[in-house]
Amino acid sequence: YIRFRDVQKSYGAVSVLNGISLDVAKGEVLVLCGPSGCGKSTLLRCINGLEPISSGTISVGEHRVDGASQDTLQKIRLSTGFVFQNFNLFPHMTALENITIAPRKILGLPQREAAAEGMKLLEQVGMAEKANVYPFQLSGGQRQRVAIARALAMKPSLMLFDEPTSALDPEMREEVLQVIRQVHHEHNMTMIVVTHEIGFAKSVASRAMLLDAGRIVEEASARVFFEHPVEERTRRFLRAIS
Ligand code: ATP
Ligand code: MG
Repeated sequence: YIRFRDVQKSYGAVSVLNGISLDVAKGEVLVLCGPSGCGKSTLLRCINGLEPISSGTISVGEHRVDGASQDTLQKIRLSTGFVFQNFNLFPHMTALENITIAPRKILGLPQREAAAEGMKLLEQVGMAEKANVYPFQLSGGQRQRVAIARALAMKPSLMLFDEPTSALDPEMREEVLQVIRQVHHEHNMTMIVVTHEIGFAKSVASRAMLLDAGRIVEEASARVFFEHPVEERTRRFLRAIS
């Protein structure tokens, strides 16, 4: 579903992705890890064309991302849900309004339908009773669950999570990870998750990958990656984060 071929990406003279080739099949969950600054967020941002690449090719579904027209980029972005570390909810909108705004404005869904769909999603993430409160009245974990529901409201075929729990207290992490697991099981959605939560990664990932200095160090089935990594660099990394 996602295909990278020899992707290079530089910011000025700084090379951030150095020849990434990668395939993620439909329904797969790829866990992406690596040290700070190795290019994880950049890689995610290249997938929906938020960052132009310097060379190589990227395709998502039937769309070619590099060199795509604005029209195609818009299509790719609409079918890609993106959840960030710092839940960027609209502060002046309630949880439910945060979820219904894009379906109404972009998909043209009537208010009542959008609200009904929105409530269903809030139920799915265990937030139905908070539909009418504002983000500042929610805990970090609750905000992140609303952010996930908001991404799902656009019925994406792909979800990208960039360290969705790293800004959260340990007690709140599990509730968010549980929601991500459940979303995958219910929708069988293709996902890339940047995370260093090994327990979660083992329980949800079909594959895992270590990125270092913009290169893929190791890429394997989750079981092999976490239980029997081949590369010494991977072993060292896994020891450091566990
Ligand atoms: P972290 O784990 O800290 O989030 P990361 O693996 O997500 O790190 P990226 O954010 O992808 O790393 O950044 C990779 C490199 O690219 C870093 O050296 C960073 O300084 C650089 N970089 C990222 N965004 C920009 C930008 N807009 N302009 C210039 N350099 C950038
Ligand atoms: Mg990052």
